[in-house]
Amino acid sequence: MRINPINNTITNYQTKTNYQKSHANQNNNITDLGLLNKNYNQINFKGIPAKDSLEMVLKIPLEDRLASMFEKVEPGDLILVGKELSEAKNKMLKSIDNIDNIISRVFFLPEHKYRGYLGFFTDKDWNKEIINLNDFELKLMDSKTIKTDYLTPYDTYYIFDDDLIALPGAKEPVQIKAAPKCDLNGFRKNFCKAVDFTKMEKSEIEKINKKMLSQLTRETKEVSSKVTFKDVGGQDELIKELKRSILYPLKYPDMYESFDVNRGFILYGPPGTGKTHIARALANEADANFVSLNGLEMESKWVGESEENWRNLFEEAKEKQPSIIFIDEVDAIGKSRGGNDVHGDKTLNQVLTLISDLDQSKDNLFVIGATNNFKSLDKALTRSGRLSKHIEVKLPDQNGVKQIFDIHSKKKPLDRNIDKEALIKKLYDLRTSGSDIRYVINEAHIIGYDRAGIHDKMENGTITGKDKRNFKILQEDFDKAIEKFVETRNGTEARPIGFNKV
Ligand code: ADP
Repeated sequence: MRINPINNTITNYQTKTNYQKSHANQNNNITDLGLLNKNYNQINFKGIPAKDSLEMVLKIPLEDRLASMFEKVEPGDLILVGKELSEAKNKMLKSIDNIDNIISRVFFLPEHKYRGYLGFFTDKDWNKEIINLNDFELKLMDSKTIKTDYLTPYDTYYIFDDDLIALPGAKEPVQIKAAPKCDLNGFRKNFCKAVDFTKMEKSEIEKINKKMLSQLTRETKEVSSKVTFKDVGGQDELIKELKRSILYPLKYPDMYESFDVNRGFILYGPPGTGKTHIARALANEADANFVSLNGLEMESKWVGESEENWRNLFEEAKEKQPSIIFIDEVDAIGKSRGGNDVHGDKTLNQVLTLISDLDQSKDNLFVIGATNNFKSLDKALTRSGRLSKHIEVKLPDQNGVKQIFDIHSKKKPLDRNIDKEALIKKLYDLRTSGSDIRYVINEAHIIGYDRAGIHDKMENGTITGKDKRNFKILQEDFDKAIEKFVETRNGTEARPIGFNKV
């Protein structure tokens, strides 16, 4: 074991205050152990067991170790101080909302002398910040102005050089220093445990993406939890067909063991005819997991990552089977095939592989694509064995309009004198979709609120329960709503999604 000779470490410390004196004494301890020379950086741990070297290096005052860390850290790095790393991590989790950047590296400084845990980081403008990782208030002092402040538990605060932090169990406060007393560059690794997440980034991204997808699944399930076939109007024939080809195989897979079940579908037809609505209802009727996606978004948002995402998505849907994967605007996938969009081609190929696999496997998983533009679909998607069954979703006939009207006006306060039959005929003549009908009903409700002064009362806070009870949507409200709808459709205003030009 070779230990470098000690020089005059202590004489280099200017012992101005008691506080600094005490630190000098702590350094004294190190020098007593015969480990330090003038600059620290010739401390030599060769031959000393790791356990002991840590013990020795812990004699370097926390504030010097901290200052040395601050020389190294960058935005995105986190310094944790305390007894145990696992405990520090748990405490940090309680405070994570206060940190905006992604943590790329964590440096843990073990500290046994004080009670409590601290976190430090530099924000994007390189300001130093402290996190109080304790359930008690932390006393901070500005050594220049002698001002004292208290940092509430799990909160963050800017700190500046020379600020003092009072920690329970400490005789003297810990000072934030611009630089350590001596150069500690050479042996940070001896007093600090570093966890580098930067190399893990790829897998982390995957994990985040996966989480996002499962949230998507959950959210969609929640949103769609109430929609059933009872909420779909004017599509009786279509529902009958979907029951036979999707609902029953999903619900009673045993009955279809000897079948070649077609698992890929395309619903096509004008916007707003209820393609998404029906697919949701289908999933709920079968109590299946429903994943709703948009081909356009998948192509643009997830460029580069999208192949991987598609694979994850299918895997997750298989895990949670029975499942329906619904892809709206499915025509966007592979639209640019043959063009310059390399990502689009790659995504299409990936999707094709996944869909082809589906037909061969026994997984209880269906893929339904929806499009308003069937002709523009890539033929590779619609070929047999892929999204090969194509079902048209038409605009409702007059009876269908009535059914949809009833569904969406069920909870509306309609005046008894409304000529419902004439209204339905009018809506049918206008070749409205389910989405249009819903729009007209809601618009009539809003116009009615205006007419009855309800909006004004809400504005000045004089609205009462009686106003709600007495309110009715009148014929004139519907007339105006239809007028507005026609105007909108003719392009005098921006068209809400789902409006089709006839
Ligand atoms: P698409 O997917 O065909 O563009 P959507 O399913 O998104 O149409 O329709 C939008 C909304 O219009 C639905 O959420 C639903 O409230 C209503 N809607 C559309 N078609 C129907 C229908 N046949 N029955 C009841 N409501 C419908």
